[in-house]
Amino acid sequence: MKNIIIFGAPGSGKGTYSAEIASRYGMGHISTGDVLRAEIKEGTELGRIAQGYIDNGQLIPDELMIDILANKYDSMPAGQGVIFDGFPRTIAQAEALKKMLAERGHDLGMMIELIVPEDVLMFRLLRRAGLEGRADDNEETIRKRFAVYHAQTEPLSRWFAEEGIRNTFDWDICKTKEGMLEAIFKEIEKQNA
Ligand code: ATP
Ligand code: MG
Repeated sequence: MKNIIIFGAPGSGKGTYSAEIASRYGMGHISTGDVLRAEIKEGTELGRIAQGYIDNGQLIPDELMIDILANKYDSMPAGQGVIFDGFPRTIAQAEALKKMLAERGHDLGMMIELIVPEDVLMFRLLRRAGLEGRADDNEETIRKRFAVYHAQTEPLSRWFAEEGIRNTFDWDICKTKEGMLEAIFKEIEKQNA
């Protein structure tokens, strides 16, 4: 399987769709958000550094994220393809990912962009706050995460388009999780045929 980069705003469903894709195709799954939350839970030095940024809705510095990602990638089973969930989030991370993969004789694969209206995103994140109790799922921090997304991450969409690997999926067109998944699976199978 080709590698897959899942791209989208906070609450767009990156984690949910990544899990569905990983189990359907037996792919590896790296969620940088989950990696950081595990470090925080274990009380590591990295976790301590990450917590300040996450609680503020800010991004962890690129150099740190790139190291974490490369280590995690090298620990995945080879040959199955990997889903990158929440990485890259900046142009510098994207350039570094491309280089890291090239050094290993691999490539970026395909990018899947989840396009979801902001009122739907806010609704989902506030609902998740009640269910999962994530400290960064409060309205003030969510607003900051949206602002960071628009300023630092959204411009990357164009970078992927220029790489010729962007595939967009629009909630307003698909309407349901099942509809969205069906469209995504179809595209993945087309590109791996
Ligand atoms: P969702 O998974 O619902 O789409 P999300 O994108 O807001 O939500 P995560 O991907 O779990 O959530 O990320 C949570 C936080 O972890 C981010 O706000 C950021 O502080 C940090 N983080 C995660 N990935 C990166 C990254 N690639 N670069 C910098 N910071 C990151
Ligand atoms: Mg996530």
